[in-house]
Order: sequence, then structure tokens, then C-alpha cells
Amino acid sequence: MKFFGVTIAELVKQVRAGECSCCDLVERSLKLIENEDKSINSFVSVERQKAMERAQILDKLPGEKKEQMPLLGIPVAVKDNICTMGIKTTCGSRMLQNFIPPYDAAVVEMLNNAGAVIVGKTNMDEFAMGSSTETSFSGITRNPVDPQRIPGGSSGGSAAAVSAGYVPAALGSDTGGSIRQPSSHCGVVGLKPTYGRVSRYGLVAFASSLDQIGPVTSDVRDAGLLLSVLSGKDKRDSTCAGKPFSDDHSIYNKDIRGMRIGLPAEYFGEGLSDAVRKHLDELLQKMKSAGAQAIEISLPHVQYAIATYYIICTAEASSNLARYDGVKYGFREMSAKNLMDMYTETRQKGFGAEVKRRIMLGTYVLSSGYYDAYYLKAAKVRTLIKKDFDDAFQKCDVIMSPVTPAPAFKIGEKTEDPLQMYLTDIYTVSANLAGIPGISVPCASVDGLPVGVQFMAPAWQEERILKAGYAAHCMAEK
Ligand code: GLN
Repeated sequence: MKFFGVTIAELVKQVRAGECSCCDLVERSLKLIENEDKSINSFVSVERQKAMERAQILDKLPGEKKEQMPLLGIPVAVKDNICTMGIKTTCGSRMLQNFIPPYDAAVVEMLNNAGAVIVGKTNMDEFAMGSSTETSFSGITRNPVDPQRIPGGSSGGSAAAVSAGYVPAALGSDTGGSIRQPSSHCGVVGLKPTYGRVSRYGLVAFASSLDQIGPVTSDVRDAGLLLSVLSGKDKRDSTCAGKPFSDDHSIYNKDIRGMRIGLPAEYFGEGLSDAVRKHLDELLQKMKSAGAQAIEISLPHVQYAIATYYIICTAEASSNLARYDGVKYGFREMSAKNLMDMYTETRQKGFGAEVKRRIMLGTYVLSSGYYDAYYLKAAKVRTLIKKDFDDAFQKCDVIMSPVTPAPAFKIGEKTEDPLQMYLTDIYTVSANLAGIPGISVPCASVDGLPVGVQFMAPAWQEERILKAGYAAHCMAEK
């Protein structure tokens, strides 16, 4: 039986009631992956032995200990840019093909403390740079809904694993949409928390001022539960604000009377496919009938969001990826004759084309002659974008928008044209630039392909998007 359409809370209840054991759940997940994932390739590594040993330990814990574990026995998949002690963490790159971290990321510790069992690591675009999971050194991941199509990216493996029902939850990372976009394409729920809500300790850095870890699940309530497990203080990440999220179930009641839903004109204009527009419109009508209020808003600077994002993220990436030089860890080109050649050949062979493109762009925008024209300007526009959201949230409680301009595209369709690929992030990058939370919730299907709706809220107001997302999901299913 697959893990789709059953909530984590129900599964945990079954374990506590003795209807099934942690071992049963983990075995079920491993079997599904082993039997079915060859054609999807959502996992880079599967940890059968470690997972089963851990499930056995959990099963033997005393009852009162189990009571304190909100994820007791739940099989979870973790994106392969999140460090797992003793388990390879490759970032989808040749550079880290054999890298085994000597420590766990903070979120992995938190999952473990909550009783979850990590069954494996999921595929991703190399160093989380991409929107299709086509740039991984471990091969492409396919969309379980239509294997001719991409699952989205960069957390495509995590979204595919949940969509295929192998696991009830997975972790992804979102720098410009990498949790929300694949979730939309795979028909699952993806939550990007407020920047600083979840510790980034042990997340391999792509763009540090934008990166955030968050959950991918099949149910909105599970996303809230995972967020409550993952959030909170961690002094090893100085940007982690130490604001725990408490999982208040009373928000999941479909009562959205009086909710002010902001609709940014800029997000419903040119570039959005008619089919997606129509479905979002239908959903909005349902939400209005349930008592929500639609409010037209404007985010005048989001037209610059893609340009701003690709300057800031490449600048930060070029700096973060400077550490992969063949000296400290990761891949080293052994045939080089001297130190300089070793550096250059290691980086030339260790990184793929997209990563190199971003490093070059990033070093360019940071170089002394261009810093003011590009990086500094982008930093200023980022502030303006954030201010647009601050102003908008004076008038509305949540913002509703598309997640992607169109449903999942075909494998190979955009690989030759990086700009087309970058444009698929047009509705998601702004939340990262502004540091605010966003959720993608399945709301329709177009020609059999899932389409999500995005809700955004002010910083630290995840509750609002979970409430709106839950109501929208229930209404869309009808
Ligand atoms: N697709 C975006 C990019 O390529 C976002 C990636 C992400 O969120 N990690 O940068």
C-alpha cells in the first residue's frame, strides 16, 4: 500500500495503537522504492540496513518515549544536499560523488529526535541549480504522473518520491522555488518556510541568503506537522531565528470567512498559460463562495525578480562553491601536474555545465568593475521587492498566485535554453528574495498533469498559508 492519501498523524496513530510497527512502515517504504523506483530514479541512495536497524530500535522504545515522538516510525526521504552522517551526500554532483559527511544536518537530528526514519537520499539538480532535475550526476528523475516529463526541480527527487507514494514525507530545499515548483508539477504539497525558521546547519550552501529547508508531503496538515518538528533554535546557524512553529490543528477547518486573498496583477498577466489561469480562477470563485474576499494588489517591482534573483544567487553560489578545489574534500583530479592545474582540472571535471555557468556569472557580477552595476543594484531592488510585499500585506492576509506558468514540460524540452528554464521560476523567486513563506498546494489537473496554487504570507505567518492551503486543497478536490 502506498503512502499517499493517508496522513502522517493517522500512520503514527496506527503505530501507537499497535496496528502496525515502525518496522512494517519502513519495510513497506523500502519495498516500494526497490520495486518501483528504477524507472523514476527519485532516489540517489537507499539505506535499507540503517533504516531497518533504526526502526527496530524505535519499536523497542518504552511507550512514554513513543508518545513524545510526533513522527514515530515515519519513513522520510531527504534531499541529497542535506548532510547525513555516514550516508553519502552528493548534491547531484561528481564533485561530491563520494562525500560521506561526518555529521548530521540540524534537520536530520530533528527528524531523528521526532522518531522519523530516513530511508534514503533523493535526486536533485546539481547543487540545487535547476528547475527540472535533469542536471544531476546520478541521471534524470522522471515525473511519476507522466514519466515522459520532468518532475520539476531542483528537489525533483523529493517531490517524485512523495508523489509516487514511496514515503509520506520528504525534505527539500528552496532557494528560488525548488520545493514549491516540483511539488506543483508532481501533485504534492511543498512548503518553503520563512527565511530563518529552519536551521540551515548541514545544508550544502547554494545561495545562503535565500536557501531554506522545508517539507514535501501529500497533505497540507503533514506539512504543518513537519514544520513544527523542523523549526526552532539552533545556535550553529546564526541566521536561524529560533522561532518555533506550533502545530495548531484548529486552523484546518475550511472556515475562510473574512480571509483577504490578495491577487497580484503582475502574476496573472502575460506568460501564464490559459489553462492554469482558468483553474486558479475557478478555485478563487470557490474560496469567495466560502466567504473569502478577493483583493486586487500590485507588486510593481516583481517584474525585476528573475533578474535580481539570478544576480544574487549566482554571486552567492560563486563564493559558496569556491571551497570545492580538490584539497579539503570531494573530487580531486589526480593526473594534474602541479597545484594550479589540480585546482582548475578538479573544478573543470567536477562541476557540470549549469554550475559552471553560475560560477562564471557570479564572479562577473561581483568583480570590482561591475559590482555596483549588478550586485549592489540587485541588492537594492531586492529591498524594493520586499517592500512591495510589506505594502501588499497591509491590504490582504495571504497572496494567491500560480506556482509555475504551465504544467510539467517534457524531458529535454528546455535543456538547451537556460533562459527559458530560468523563467519557469518567475512566480516563486520573489518569496525567497523577500524572505517570506510560500506553499504550493495541488489545485487542478490540466490534460492529466497536476497544477498547484501558491499562497504566500508575511514572515512568520506560515499558519495563514497552511490554513488557506488546506481549504484550497479540500475545495479543489471536490
Ligand atoms: N530553479 C531555481 C534555480 O535554478 C531555484 C533553485 C532552488 O530553489 N534551489 O536557481
